[in-house]
Amino acid sequence: MPVAGNQLKALFEYLDSKLSEQGCDDTLYHTAQFAVEAGVSFANLKAWLETVGGYCDCEVIVNVEEKFEGLV
Ligand SMILES: [Zn+2]
Repeated sequence: MPVAGNQLKALFEYLDSKLSEQGCDDTLYHTAQFAVEAGVSFANLKAWLETVGGYCDCEVIVNVEEKFEGLV
């Protein structure tokens, strides 16, 4: 995992709030914004998210949060 557990939790919270305001545009746009703000590599984060089924912001919530919510 390219981010710490607490950063992953922060990402889920960030996406929850952005997606409820703006919806998903079928990209990792909000995830990319989060990576910049959190100072993590978006390239690494994106590569990892794709391995766990997160190809766009809403899939990160649906597929990735479901897998990792017990860990973070
Ligand atoms: Zn989506």
